Amino acid sequence: MSLPQPNQELYKKLFHELENESTYDQATRAGHQYVLDLKASRTYPSDESISELASFDEELPENSIDSHRVINQLATDGTPGTVGCSGGRYFGFVTGGYIPAGMAAKILSSFWDQNTASYVCSPITSVLETVVQKWIVKLLNLEPQTVVGFVSGSSVANMIALVAARFHILEKKGWDLNKRGIHGSPAIRIVAGQEVHSSVIKGIAVMGFGTDNIEYVDVDDQGRMIPDRLPRLDDQTIVILQAGNIHSGAVDDINTIASIAKKAGAWVHVDGAFGLWVRSCERLKDQINGLELVDSCAVDGHKTLNTPYDSGIVICKHPQALPKALNIQGNYFMDTQHRENKFYTLELSRRMRVAEFWATLKSLGTSGVDDLVYRLHYHAKLFEDKLSRIDGFEILNEIWFNQLSIACASDELTDEVVDLIQKDGVCWVGGSYWRGRRVIRISVSSWQTNEEDVDATVSSFKRALHKASEMIKV
Ligand SMILES: *Cc1c(COP(=O)(O)O)cnc(C)c1O
Repeated sequence: MSLPQPNQELYKKLFHELENESTYDQATRAGHQYVLDLKASRTYPSDESISELASFDEELPENSIDSHRVINQLATDGTPGTVGCSGGRYFGFVTGGYIPAGMAAKILSSFWDQNTASYVCSPITSVLETVVQKWIVKLLNLEPQTVVGFVSGSSVANMIALVAARFHILEKKGWDLNKRGIHGSPAIRIVAGQEVHSSVIKGIAVMGFGTDNIEYVDVDDQGRMIPDRLPRLDDQTIVILQAGNIHSGAVDDINTIASIAKKAGAWVHVDGAFGLWVRSCERLKDQINGLELVDSCAVDGHKTLNTPYDSGIVICKHPQALPKALNIQGNYFMDTQHRENKFYTLELSRRMRVAEFWATLKSLGTSGVDDLVYRLHYHAKLFEDKLSRIDGFEILNEIWFNQLSIACASDELTDEVVDLIQKDGVCWVGGSYWRGRRVIRISVSSWQTNEEDVDATVSSFKRALHKASEMIKV
């Protein structure tokens, strides 16, 4: 053949790196050191550390760089710019830590680098997805025929559930959505509580339902939909409920609302991104009743369950709704009688998310999941106890699960306190706006949080309030 040979030197070097353990050791050692250092480090990088990230802004080098040097740069220059969100003093958004076995499984499965689309591509993935599906159904006490899809998080899980809902509703009206398209199809109504999560609204927008068409239902002082305020429902309606309000942690009255909705023939979806796991905790589970009436749910692994990031699941009671809505055919797929994962997610190729799900659940066991959920709640209650003793902080919500929304005497003071707490670096909390006031949000989502972390955080709150009060007085 007359073509010039590909670069042999690069090929030899890559083979050397593939076979040489030290690059991987370097990465896992740096990663593990990071975990060990986290307790004594700032929870959020300093402004200086963030500005030093500018060192990454370089031209792509012309020639290959040794993997050692590449990883070294990432570890040395990158680590100071990370947020310690898996540690015990990060309370921002709803950001879980991770269980060690889950992270180890993620590392191992990264080496496997499976394409999880189908059974033929990766038998182990199909087997584990089948097993974890069964475990989830049992943990959350769902109907036995329920299926789950492993997606990147609840944004996608919520949207995929709506995709299944839409397909299912239209199918019952004799309209094959995938063939005939949305144009001219029977109109679908969306009913949601006023405090529906932004990611659900995004999904509704992306799907073309139009956010102006959402029929919002009034909520109570904990952000729960008021059942009496529901509009008249019908069999072309999707009702979107919430298990875990991001400001209060409260759960909608699923049993009552789903009963009404099912009588009308509506589809009921529950966004339970972090809160659905409450169902698997003996002491808290009575907050979630009526899940057997629900058609679909979204829940994250990477929040409450503390799997590493990029892990959520869509749950659907109708085993055919997801595979039909997400149907994909190709002569080369070689489908089998086993689970074909591609019918449960939007992606064809994706990484093996189920590995960390499986390892996390197996490592915790049923009682460990229960303990984990309770542990997060316990430390949220501890925050309530300690903060409510400090003059100047008002907790606006009841502590249903792991969320606190805290206000100071004025919005200006609250914002200043958030800013000072963040600058202090001991912990990290975010600010928000709820029930007409600026608030500080605490979300206890990592198993690592202990009483010492709560105390250090409460001290930081006190210092910030003191300083902010002085500043605003002048
Ligand atoms: C976080 C969250 C989502 C979105 O989940 P992602 O995993 O971030 O995509 C949706 N709903 C609620 C209530 C959440 O807390």
